[in-house]
Amino acid sequence: MPDLAATIATIAADMASVTDRGKVADYIPELAGVPLGKFGIAVCTADGAEHIAGDADEPFSIQSVSKLFTLKLALDIQGDALWTRVGREPSGSAFNSIVQLEAERGIPRNPFINAGALIVADVIAEAHDDDRGAIGAILRFLRELAGTRGNPDETIQIDPRVAYSEAATGFRNAALANYMKSFGNLRRPVDEVLQTYFHQCAIAMSCRQLARATRFLSAGGEADGTAIVTPERARRIAALMLTCGHYDASGDFAFRVGLPAKSGVGGGIVAVVPGRASVAVWSPGLGAQGNSVLATLALERLAGAMGWSVFTPE
Ligand code: GLN
Repeated sequence: MPDLAATIATIAADMASVTDRGKVADYIPELAGVPLGKFGIAVCTADGAEHIAGDADEPFSIQSVSKLFTLKLALDIQGDALWTRVGREPSGSAFNSIVQLEAERGIPRNPFINAGALIVADVIAEAHDDDRGAIGAILRFLRELAGTRGNPDETIQIDPRVAYSEAATGFRNAALANYMKSFGNLRRPVDEVLQTYFHQCAIAMSCRQLARATRFLSAGGEADGTAIVTPERARRIAALMLTCGHYDASGDFAFRVGLPAKSGVGGGIVAVVPGRASVAVWSPGLGAQGNSVLATLALERLAGAMGWSVFTPE
């Protein structure tokens, strides 16, 4: 087995010479201004060790990586009844696509495309009375997950400028929410659901914090000896990450990396190596489907070097 710390250091060093880095998201100024040269990686292993390289302690906009954590919260609230309101199939469409919603009567294909994440946000807003309550619950949960030995990481914050810009430009998300409302699949007012979603997208976290927050999915639902979800739920969330975590590039990501993972347009990707590790990688340049080019490449190399794909025999 190659040395993990050395492998990560080599991967991070190699990334500096990659010239095809994709394009930084430019729909809001806060993301457009992030330097293309940034790269960070953090790994939390099953034995409690942490390894980092590059810009692993620099907070970035987690964007759709948040959908993973809100799904967990919505499943706590609704249990399997959630699956009557959102599907579990890859969409094969862009993350913000509206086309399938008409034929499927306002029921999104999966919880990781925007439409599905809006249903999930609706569930959380309903349980916490409104968007403020929901946003507080999401932030608290992430602080607890990223904390160590029961001490929440209070440094995790929402970037208010990102939240504002998401709302100012979020016409398509508003269209998705209104469209699903017309089918009766949203319970709270559209604006509450949108505000919940825009604020979860605007949470800023570092690779180290995200890798910590994802530990429970690599350890049968447990982190620091505390049960966060049941082993069955951890397995099911990971299955959705593998099949839907990268939208219409999920097949390609599974082919190249072979790990359950979730991406965001801030350039972050978290990945789960069952029984072994949780990984967070960040580089802001995106490919055509809105997934980080360098983070994908780094995960491909890491999974290859360590034999960490879920399809690699033990
Ligand atoms: N805020 C973005 C949006 O809703 C998040 C999308 C993403 O990260 N894929 O369009």
